[in-house]
Amino acid sequence: MSDNIFDVLSGSIADEAAMAIETDAGQRLSYGDLLALSGQMANALVELGLRPGDRLAAQVEKSTEAIILYLATVRAGGVFLPLNTAYTAAEMQYFLTDAEPAIFVCDPTRQGELGAAAKAAGARILTLDANGGGSLAVAAARTGTDFATIARERDDLAALLYTSGTTGRSKGAMLTHGNLVSNALTLREAWHYGPSDILIHALPIFHTHGLFVATNVTLLSGASMILLRKFDPARILALMPRTSVLMGVPTFYVRLLDEAGLTREAAASMRLFISGSAPLLEDTHRRWQERTGHAILERYGMTETNMNVSNPYIGERIAGTVGQPLPGVDLRITDPATGEDVPAGEIGMIEVRGPNVFKGYWRMPEKTAEELRANGFFITGDLGRIDERGYVQIVGRGKDLIISGGFNVYPKEVEAEIDAIPGVVESAVIGLPHHDFGEAVTAVVVAEAGAARDDAAIIAMLQQRLARFKLPKQVLFVESLPRNTMGKVQKNLLRDRFAGLYA
Ligand code: ATP
Ligand code: MG
Repeated sequence: MSDNIFDVLSGSIADEAAMAIETDAGQRLSYGDLLALSGQMANALVELGLRPGDRLAAQVEKSTEAIILYLATVRAGGVFLPLNTAYTAAEMQYFLTDAEPAIFVCDPTRQGELGAAAKAAGARILTLDANGGGSLAVAAARTGTDFATIARERDDLAALLYTSGTTGRSKGAMLTHGNLVSNALTLREAWHYGPSDILIHALPIFHTHGLFVATNVTLLSGASMILLRKFDPARILALMPRTSVLMGVPTFYVRLLDEAGLTREAAASMRLFISGSAPLLEDTHRRWQERTGHAILERYGMTETNMNVSNPYIGERIAGTVGQPLPGVDLRITDPATGEDVPAGEIGMIEVRGPNVFKGYWRMPEKTAEELRANGFFITGDLGRIDERGYVQIVGRGKDLIISGGFNVYPKEVEAEIDAIPGVVESAVIGLPHHDFGEAVTAVVVAEAGAARDDAAIIAMLQQRLARFKLPKQVLFVESLPRNTMGKVQKNLLRDRFAGLYA
């Protein structure tokens, strides 16, 4: 058996008849089916020209076939590169040119539009539709189910995953078989995952969260998942009585709380609710616990590293924290200017090291050298602190830090105070260019329906809670905060929109 994640997966299958994936459309795939179908697909990919080390880019709808495509690609020694289905032709051109995949798989409806870009990048184009049809499916159906998995070493690439592009242009993170396997096994252990688990899988599969955390952990545990094409709160509630785990972004939990049917009884058979990808508000954590009796387990990770930190399965899950470093992960908090450790409890840059940390950015050696230290620590770009209990608190991204009149203002601290004000749903605090202060602290607030939109009252309340330099110069009201598919607030869009406020 090699270090290929597929070898680790096939080696861990205890019962080929056990259910692996179910869909709402009535598909039911056992682990034996996964072996056979990924074998067929791998045979097709090799016939189509995929060689070990080649990239396979896929911009396809969520389906069991898309998961099989991932498994088949790594089985054939290829490097899987999933892309957000929302990307436009112009964006796709950037990714295809940058990654130079040997094969590009897209939805049949986009073949015409993307064909030229794929060809220019040297990729052969094939199709896979949301129901598992398309030219790739036809090619796979013609081949046999036996396929000898290509041996891979721990350090060989398994995936090229682009970051979400929240702080700038997306970067391709090179992830190895060792990165993926080690993280999946660590999380299986940490979250007590086992063959009897049934996951509600409602996340997209073009990010770490849905593809690696959800899919790898489930399959390497011999557990099963119910694959939902998209997030649908009513459907999730209906599934809960026969499932055990839900993985979601914070927005899932906020939206589920709007469902009258969310009760202790409805969640009685569930053993674990996990949240990540963006900060979970303490208020959401508290309301969830009141309604369901479950404490949401929040964890922290990113494209470049998979998961680094998690609240405990057994032990206290503390709202507003992401828990403690996972086994095998070293975490330090450093002064961004000097790179030296900060004194205990102080805020600084979060750096992580471990078998989960990627190999570097694809074709960006300078960027890699800037963010990945020679001693193995990756500079995450997130600011945080370790509290007296050893739990990590994230205070925001380094790029969102506001420097106003020479003072550092951490947006999270101000947001937490604003969010606690009655009538406020949520807020985003940003720095905007200001002639005197350099940057002016500015609050963008979503008010509850019917609540007064009183900026002066908000500032007056904050005056009793925050030092003067942290107070927003202005409070702006919006209907909702801009978010990407993973529920991350896009502060750069807010900064652009209000850039001229103090001009
Ligand atoms: P880019 O790197 O292109 O700007 P991105 O950092 O949003 O985009 P991802 O790798 O998808 O791309 O997201 C990782 C980031 O998500 C982390 O660095 C962190 O800022 C945020 N994040 C993940 N989990 C949490 C969490 N539990 N709490 C707060 N932030 C989180
Ligand atoms: Mg990032």
